[in-house]
Amino acid sequence: MFTCLNKIQPYFVCLSDGLLNPLYNYICSTYLSIMIYITRREHFNAAHKLHNPAWSEEKNNEVFGKCANPNWHGHNYNLFVTVKGPVNAETGYSANLKDISTIIRTHITEKLDHKNLNMDVDFLKGMMPSTENVAIAIWKQLTPHIDALGIKLHSVKLYETENNYVEYLGEE
Ligand SMILES: [Zn+2]
Repeated sequence: MFTCLNKIQPYFVCLSDGLLNPLYNYICSTYLSIMIYITRREHFNAAHKLHNPAWSEEKNNEVFGKCANPNWHGHNYNLFVTVKGPVNAETGYSANLKDISTIIRTHITEKLDHKNLNMDVDFLKGMMPSTENVAIAIWKQLTPHIDALGIKLHSVKLYETENNYVEYLGEE
């Protein structure tokens, strides 16, 4: 109880004092580690097939179902990228979502949209393009660019269909 109050109280002190003293507000906001999570959604359409060349056609069909179709098929993917960081006292933001969107579009969706995930994408080469593997690959692509903003990547959530999604939180 007291620990909680001690954490909250200085934040409000900082906010009220900050109206009179922006420098004090800045120091307080840097000192306090109040983390918040924000999410940006982006969308892409892509083709793929799931196929293990070591297996028979029957086993591929049995395991992967419609996703084993040799002549490809498509999905409307929805990608949710969540980042975490402290709230900046001057902007009220932890990150500008416009920056997050630009990073995702430049490094992910422009490379995946209307592409064949088995053949066209440099960072998916040699990989079974399951939702799990694509989400992990997206995490690896995004991490250095999110780090450069001074915040952290928290999760990559990738919806392959309305009902099915995977979420990757990085290595524990
Ligand atoms: Zn599929």
